[in-house]
This record gives sequence, structure tokens and C-alpha cells, in this order.
Amino acid sequence: MKKISIKLKVTLWYTLSMIIVSAIVLLAMNAASQQMIRHDISERLIQTVDEASHMRFVPDNHPVPGFRVYSRGVHLMLYNDDGELIGGQVPFGITDEPDFSDEIRTKTYDGSTYYIYDKQVKHSFSDNTLWVKGIISATDEAYAISSVMKNNFLLTAIIIVLASFGGYLIINRAFVPVNKITKTAKRIIASGDLSQRIELGDGKDEIYSLAGVFDEMLDKIEQAFEREKQFTSDASHELRTPVAVILSECEYMTECARSSADFTESASSIKRQAERMSKLIGELLTLSRMDKNTLKINLEETDISELASFVCDEQEEIASKDIELIRRIDVGICASVDRFLLARLFINLVSNAYQYSDDGGKIEVSLKEDESNIIFGVSDTGIGIAKEELGKIWERFYQSDTSRTANENGSMGLGLSMVKHIAECHGGSVSVESELGVGSKFVFTLPKSSK
Ligand code: ADP
Repeated sequence: MKKISIKLKVTLWYTLSMIIVSAIVLLAMNAASQQMIRHDISERLIQTVDEASHMRFVPDNHPVPGFRVYSRGVHLMLYNDDGELIGGQVPFGITDEPDFSDEIRTKTYDGSTYYIYDKQVKHSFSDNTLWVKGIISATDEAYAISSVMKNNFLLTAIIIVLASFGGYLIINRAFVPVNKITKTAKRIIASGDLSQRIELGDGKDEIYSLAGVFDEMLDKIEQAFEREKQFTSDASHELRTPVAVILSECEYMTECARSSADFTESASSIKRQAERMSKLIGELLTLSRMDKNTLKINLEETDISELASFVCDEQEEIASKDIELIRRIDVGICASVDRFLLARLFINLVSNAYQYSDDGGKIEVSLKEDESNIIFGVSDTGIGIAKEELGKIWERFYQSDTSRTANENGSMGLGLSMVKHIAECHGGSVSVESELGVGSKFVFTLPKSSK
């Protein structure tokens, strides 16, 4: 069966409902009109016969002078005691002998129905009685009813057609936003262009808010898609450099290297690049596992004060710059954390502080706790971060222009996004305050209630 649209379904449904309701109303109206008209005809018949019966009847005059033959659709007749017609005229087609009764009754002659009513009156100059007979054709009634019904039917049909058409227009209008949503979705499917939006504007009904949510969802999908694209291109870019170096070193070794010193130098360059690739691949793997929530987190009760001091010792030892490291680490702070991941977080923050500070600078590492949180802070007097870059430093592969030169040191712009992930998978958060040329402060907050 061919699918019919919701618009048509709704229109057909309420048109059908209106037809059914109207038919019931029309039938009721028909019955009421019949009753009213019948009542009106009976009233008219009685009233006309009553009026005719009030005149003075002069004896023996044939016909009685002044007796009206026809009034307001009623045929009038006057009969004497012997049933002889002495006034008025029997309507054409009525042939039987007259009978008299003061009850309204109906009789059919030649297929036509008549209402009949009689009234007995006293003769003005004797004790004899006379009968005034009134006859009215029921055809009038049928005609009146059919004309009323015809009008009613016509009016109802016009109302149904107008209401159905108006209803269809309203539904059609209400469906405009739905059509727009469908068109936008189809355009996106056909072109793959995620920048398309429905843009219905402000509206109060549910469809408008659906379109708004749809647009928001498209924003998010587009951003995620762009991030994914950027990530893939950055990752391949980062891998291409060490691969190129390794290939050229291999070429040099096979074609140009003469002495064992040449071989040793090329081999150590290859080793450095391979280590760099291995580090990058390791970090990418960790990030992707974090994304997919498949990274296993081994929570164990850990002395965080010890871990922070250990990281400080290590970083101080490998630092090649003349930078003072100040420790404000409260002792005995413990929590249930993944020791390996938390060490990574501390290392990334402290090593960044070293990397982006110059000789003579100062780094302060602090660890303290209050009632609800454990707070780890690393501040430095380094190059600082521009305000407009503060939001971007958490993105994968993001490196500010000034730090790009640091690439040679093996930094790839993945450290802070890992810090953010580690903080979040521990139920914590990380924040930054920085001023260009003055220094930066990174703070990791771990709620004590977190697992
Ligand atoms: P990278 O490997 O480049 O250090 P990160 O993700 O750790 O990558 O940091 C991203 C960027 O944030 C860095 O390139 C640098 O521009 C900026 N940044 C991070 N830490 C600091 C800091 N302590 N001082 C100044 N800039 C920093």
C-alpha cells in the first residue's frame, strides 16, 4: 500500500470525524425540524379552523356568506348536521364521505397525505350543530423539511470543506520546519558537508526546539569530525619526520658511510628517531584507549607526596637548565589512584615548566590537601601563554608558535591533553593561569571522594 503522509492522514482523520459528527447532528436536526414543522402545521390547522368557527352562521343560506374557502394553506369546509357541505370547497382528490372528529388525524388520498381537523359549532339561530373542517396537505410539511435539510446539508458540507482545507493549510505550515529538517539532513547525506544547519530561528513549539537541538548536535559532530581529521593529519605529520630521518640515515649508511664512526653516528640518530616514534605511538595508543574508555586504570592506595617528590627529584636531575625548583609538598598525603598515570601527569606538568622556562627561572611544585580535595600545583616564571591560546593548549598536537622550536626536544603537543584525560579519569580536573612573559600555573585538583 502506498504510504500516505502524516499531513494527509491527520486531515483525512479529522475530516472523517467531522463528517460523522455532522451526520449525527444533521439526523438530530432533521428529527427536530420534522417535529417542529409538524407542530407548526397542527397549530396552524387548529388556529385556522378555530378562527373560521367564530363567525355567525346564517341559517339556510347556501353557501354561507363570508365563509373563507382557504386560509394560510388550510382548506376550510362547513358541514351541517346531515353531513351536507354548506360552505367552502373540498380539495381536489378527496372523494370519500366526510367523518367528523376534534382529533387531528392524517389520511392519504392518491399517495398524498393530509392533516384533518374538525370543530363542532353551534348554529346561530337554532340548536343544530355545524362542523367546520380544516384540511392541510402534508406535502407542504415534506417540502419545508426537505428545504430545511437541504440548507443544513449544504451549510454543513461547506463548513466541512472549509475546515478541512483550513486544517490542511495549518498542518502544512506546521510541517514546514519538519521539511526543512529533512531537507538539511538529505543535503548533509548527499554532500557530506557537516557545516549545513537547519537554522529555524526562534520558535516556541517542539519542532523548533528539535531543530535547535539538531543544530547543536551538528555543531558537536562537526567539531568532533574536524578534531579527528586534525588529529590524523597531525599524527601522520609527526610520524613522517622521524621516518624521513631514518630513511635518509639508512641511505647514508648504505651509500656514503666510510668509517665505523659514520656508522655509529647514523645508528644513534636512527635510534633517537625510533625512540621518538615509539614514544609518540605509545602516547597515541594511551590517548586512544582513554577515548574508548578501554584504558585499564589500576587504582591503588598511593602516597602522593612521595610520588610528587620522586618526580621532582627525577626532573631536577635530568634538567639541563639552571632553574631553581622549590618544593612545597605536604607529607603523608595519600589517595587511591593509578600510580603510573598520576606519575605521568606530574612529569608532564613539571617537565613543561622546565621546558618553557629559561635559565635563572624558578619552578614551584606544591602539594596540599583540604577537607575535600588534594591539590597539586606547578608554577613557573617561564615564557607564559597568550590569553587566546589558553583554551587550545589542551588540544592534541597543539603547540604555540613559540614552542614549536622545542620540537627538537621531542615535544609533540600531546602532554597536556594526556594530563587532562588522566585528571578526568580520576574524577578530577586541571586548570591553568598564565601571563605571557611572566609565567604559568597549572593546578590539578583531585576530589577525595573520587575513586
Ligand atoms: P608539548 O609537547 O608541546 O609541551 P603540551 O601538550 O605539553 O605539548 O603543551 C602544549 C602547549 O602548551 C605547548 O606547546 C606550550 O605552547 C604550552 N605550554 C604548556 N606548558 C607550558 C608552560 N609551563 N609554560 C608555557 N607554555 C606552556
